[in-house]
Amino acid sequence: MWRVGTVVALHDETATARTITLEVSDWPGHVAGQHVDVRLTAPDGYSAVRSYSIASAPNSERRVELTIERLPNGEVSPYLTQELAVGDRLELRGPIGGWFVWRTQQAEPIQLIAGGSGIVPLMAMIRARASTGSAPFRLLYSVREPGAVFYRDELQTLSDRDHKVSLTYAYTRTTPKDWRRAPGRIDAALIADATWPSNLAPTCYVCGPTPFVESVVGFLSASGNSPDKIRTERFGPTGDRK
Ligand SMILES: Cc1cc2nc3c(=O)[nH]c(=O)nc-3n(C[C@H](O)[C@H](O)[C@H](O)COP(=O)(O)OP(=O)(O)OC[C@H]3O[C@@H](n4cnc5c(N)ncnc54)[C@H](O)[C@@H]3O)c2cc1C
Repeated sequence: MWRVGTVVALHDETATARTITLEVSDWPGHVAGQHVDVRLTAPDGYSAVRSYSIASAPNSERRVELTIERLPNGEVSPYLTQELAVGDRLELRGPIGGWFVWRTQQAEPIQLIAGGSGIVPLMAMIRARASTGSAPFRLLYSVREPGAVFYRDELQTLSDRDHKVSLTYAYTRTTPKDWRRAPGRIDAALIADATWPSNLAPTCYVCGPTPFVESVVGFLSASGNSPDKIRTERFGPTGDRK
């Protein structure tokens, strides 16, 4: 079922990523980690569908936030990040997904691992925890460079306010000045340093581009996390494109 959302706010997260806030009058509510499909239709009837994770925590205001990274040659993301304006209407279907979700009644330690825009559904979990949950969270967030971090100030505030949300950045290309780790991808040593020990049986949520997810799952498994405790979301091109 397609619903219609009205754009009520736009906010740039980085030079290439924008958060869109939609008001959806018949929104049924969602769980942190779910996504929606967005459909754009041209005047000649041609339409394109893409999936976007929900960034906002479940709320009673029927608001849904999406954060979209612009791919230079993409069909849909340049429109959503550059042309869509406040007051425009957008078709969406969802919420979708029942496995890659975090529910506030989960009390076990939670390990979040994001690559780039893969932070989006994990941010919904962090926001949901901030309003109603109490589980201890760790986030390991891999980005190209400091300017590519989404939600930087909010993440810092949540992690300072509540020491149960710990935050580790991994920079793949450029680090901040005097950073203790050379630029590079997440590796076994960083997993050992920055994630929950596997004997605490954390539930792990890994989200990002497909190769990122596969490599991180390999490290988590090698460090003793059982496969049924590792949940993944891959941000590759959507399977059903139309
Ligand atoms: C469940 C799910 C949730 C998602 N959530 C988000 C989200 O919260 N924020 C977000 O920005 N994106 C998200 N994505 C990715 C999104 O659906 C689109 O794939 C992305 O916006 C590119 O669409 P496009 O039309 O601009 O590019 P396209 O025209 O589809 O592709 C342009 C080129 O980029 C390549 N490409 C497509 N997608 C990606 C990608 N994700 N990474 C690298 N290269 C790619 C294509 O193979 C092609 O070569 C999600 C994907 C899935 C499956």
